[in-house]
Amino acid sequence: MAMTEQISVEEYAAKARVFLDANAEKKEARKKFVWGEGSDNVSMFEERSKEAEEEMLRRAKAWQALRFDNGFAWITGPTEYGGAGLTVAHERAYNQVEREYKTAPLGAFQIGLGMVAPTILAHASQNARDLYLRKMWRADIVGCQLFSEPGAGSDLASVQAKAEKDGDEWVITGQKVWTSGAQFSDIGEIICRTDPGLPKHKGLTGFIVNMRAPGVEIRPLRQMTGGASFNEVFFNEVRVPDDHRLGDVNNGWNVALTTLMNERASIGSADSGENTMYTRLLEMIRHYELDTDPIVREMLADLYINTKVAGYTSQRATDKMRAGQMPGPEMSIGKMALVNNQKKMNDLVAHVLGAKLVVDTGEWGTYAWSQLLLGAPGMRIAGGSDEVMRNIVGERVLGLPKDVGIDSKSAFRDIKVGTQKD
Ligand SMILES: Cc1cc2nc3c(=O)[nH]c(=O)nc-3n(C[C@H](O)[C@H](O)[C@H](O)COP(=O)(O)OP(=O)(O)OC[C@H]3O[C@@H](n4cnc5c(N)ncnc54)[C@H](O)[C@@H]3O)c2cc1C
Repeated sequence: MAMTEQISVEEYAAKARVFLDANAEKKEARKKFVWGEGSDNVSMFEERSKEAEEEMLRRAKAWQALRFDNGFAWITGPTEYGGAGLTVAHERAYNQVEREYKTAPLGAFQIGLGMVAPTILAHASQNARDLYLRKMWRADIVGCQLFSEPGAGSDLASVQAKAEKDGDEWVITGQKVWTSGAQFSDIGEIICRTDPGLPKHKGLTGFIVNMRAPGVEIRPLRQMTGGASFNEVFFNEVRVPDDHRLGDVNNGWNVALTTLMNERASIGSADSGENTMYTRLLEMIRHYELDTDPIVREMLADLYINTKVAGYTSQRATDKMRAGQMPGPEMSIGKMALVNNQKKMNDLVAHVLGAKLVVDTGEWGTYAWSQLLLGAPGMRIAGGSDEVMRNIVGERVLGLPKDVGIDSKSAFRDIKVGTQKD
């Protein structure tokens, strides 16, 4: 259901409440957190069995479809593709009301809706936009991001998976890696090399690829937390119609940048679960009678202040994007701040728990933190590593010379990947 621009934010919030009252259960008034009661799980990556993952997806898809059909899923999206055509203020109002209700978690759609769908809207053919946007936002299909390769991560422009034109189709062959959620995705946004005779940033093209097409093979990768949230994806002569191309031939770098901008925005503005994590942290400190310890107090205050400041920086970047402006390096600063604060939190937990963090004594709320500590380094890498973020700040804020070692002039086929020099 599309709503008109005329509806006020207050009216929209009231409609949202009626919808949520009819379709979701209200959360109980927040019970005071008591150390030692309930679950002590604080893991960064959800690690589920196949059956649990399927059940999670089923619930998430059903909830997203219901929201979509009632005009509460793609609130700021264009009406021609099923969006409600409303403003960011309407979206904020809805989210605020929805937080009062128990609803299915929608994390499985974060990459598809936060990164792939905006790129399809900006760069895909009319046919592809008609085919995919509504279905993605209704969660009839899920999307993933097929960028990284064994030899192309930070230096994404070095991708080697190739796409060759064959009549009205392209034929894709190569390997992608670290593809989050590929195991339950229906489509993927892939960046391929289409002209190795051009400099590396110039010979790339983006496509939408069917993850269930013949020639696509998905293999899970196990991470140090024990779970397998990522995959290697192999493409063996996978055929893609030309109208599934994103943007012009050899303009894939700009297509990738659209996706990466949205990725950094979503990581930088991620809800760090600040309130619940702080309460847990505070109660742990009280439990071990360290709340008068000057070192612990200083670490906690430092973490709290930095988390608040990081939140404001991210807010500035997302507001800029939503107002139609290109965000600047504040996106990189926001992302670095988020991961630095995660490290501050982990250091504080380690300081308080000591050996209990690494040896499972069975004591509630101790060893469970190790899942958070083992998952956290991934966030220093995902969406652009710390070092790459620092390079951006160095160049764009401090005016330092450009990073050496990126050969942006020679034909890609003449560069030995991994040893580029200017
Ligand atoms: C949680 C998580 C989820 C992910 N999900 C996806 C996904 O869904 N789809 C996808 O395509 N990819 C995904 N990735 C992959 C991610 O994009 C890459 O890991 C990332 O781009 C870094 O690339 P790399 O791992 O090849 O490391 P490399 O680029 O090889 O970097 C290795 C080290 O060298 C440093 N380095 C590299 N270049 C420079 C430089 N110029 N200056 C200084 N230091 C440098 C890096 O900071 C790093 O410490 C995910 C990664 C993580 C951790």
